[in-house]
Amino acid sequence: MKRKDFLKKGIIAGAAGATLLNACTDEATSSNTGPAIITDKKIRWKMVTTWPPNFPILDEGCRNLAKWINVMSGGRIEIEVYHGGVLVPPLQTFEAVSSGAAEMGHGVAYYWAGIQPAFQYFSSVPFGLSAQQMNAWLFGGGGMDLYTELYADYNLVPFIAGNTGVQMGGWFNKKIDSVADFKGLKMRMPGLGGKVLQKMGGTAVLSPGSELYTNLERGVIDATEWIGPYHDYTMGFHQIAKYYYYPGWHETGSSLECIVNKRDFENLTPDLQEIVRTAMYRSNQWILAQFESKNNEYLQRIKDESDVQILPFSDEVLDALKEKAMEMYAELTANDAKAKRVHDSVWKFKKMISEWHETSEKKFLNNLQ
Ligand code: CA
Repeated sequence: MKRKDFLKKGIIAGAAGATLLNACTDEATSSNTGPAIITDKKIRWKMVTTWPPNFPILDEGCRNLAKWINVMSGGRIEIEVYHGGVLVPPLQTFEAVSSGAAEMGHGVAYYWAGIQPAFQYFSSVPFGLSAQQMNAWLFGGGGMDLYTELYADYNLVPFIAGNTGVQMGGWFNKKIDSVADFKGLKMRMPGLGGKVLQKMGGTAVLSPGSELYTNLERGVIDATEWIGPYHDYTMGFHQIAKYYYYPGWHETGSSLECIVNKRDFENLTPDLQEIVRTAMYRSNQWILAQFESKNNEYLQRIKDESDVQILPFSDEVLDALKEKAMEMYAELTANDAKAKRVHDSVWKFKKMISEWHETSEKKFLNNLQ
């Protein structure tokens, strides 16, 4: 089916669903004696995702989310999960949910940078927040209010539904001893991190995940970032790269999101809305826990099974990357009031929580061993 036809069909199906639900709600609220919830009306939703089939952690994460909502709702909501490309191309997920062609979508907010640059702050930005700081900003520091407000313009209710934790700096076949080593470096680095790399004198290459191994092996690229030890191991990079650098300055804790069509969400009864919201919280925790525990295990496997040198970027390199990142932010926010507003909220929060973490997390982690 052509995408246009699908969207059209989806919108018609969505509109019909909304009418049915409105009718149920009217009936429930107009009767004082009748049941508050019509339990025999099954709500069937489609969740489109940006992920390929069997994508580690996230595929299971989407299925869990659908299952938890189904079980908690006593079967009143049934969600079918579709991998990227099955109903719509992965990067059309936002548009599909916004238009109502699908009721839910799972992905990462920085995929929608072309729609609204400010969205990137709800996933991860260079030298941004850690997973713990991100959750604190979203749920305690006003982040969710901004997120909800910005997505409402696109007929969406956004939820945070997971986090990758801090990522790795990437796989290199060239040693990075100093700032000069970035000159001419061809590296797969999407998004804002790619802009920083360009400012360092490198070339940001946009390769799809499926081509990364071959491109790195054949020297088409000198380096690539991916995610963290677990996903990177499954890609086999440790078999072909010499160096594995850390930390992932470009993705300091990337939030995964699940978006819901605003009209579909508002048509749910309040108890079902809470069920959806609660399942998202569980998913947020579950996915982060999987990333952290698997990365822990697979970092060890990479050490045991390969000769890859696992190295930190030097302070000199990180300072230079940070300086270029700040230049990039100045450009990003100069003529974009929304991006500026979200940026200022994140950075104000980051400054404060960094001081707190200086005396709590950091001090503790430095003395772990
Ligand atoms: Ca990455």
